[in-house]
Amino acid sequence: MFLCKNCNSVDKFELMFSPEYRGSKNFSQKYNKKNEIEITVDGYTFVPDLRFMNEHAVCRYCGQIYLWEYERKQV
Ligand SMILES: [Zn+2]
Repeated sequence: MFLCKNCNSVDKFELMFSPEYRGSKNFSQKYNKKNEIEITVDGYTFVPDLRFMNEHAVCRYCGQIYLWEYERKQV
């Protein structure tokens, strides 16, 4: 899971699409059995890594752009 470094909210992000992107920009997210987030964009599903997040994801709560880190699990 990913954590916004600005407001400390977890995994509430929106994807930024480049202006050239021609798909319909539908995306959804869910957790798989390994508790990894899976993103589906226009029918294409993948597991984003931190690099992807910091290039494409904007925090839905605070609007911070590209400031993510892996959430550290409390053990
Ligand atoms: Zn935030």
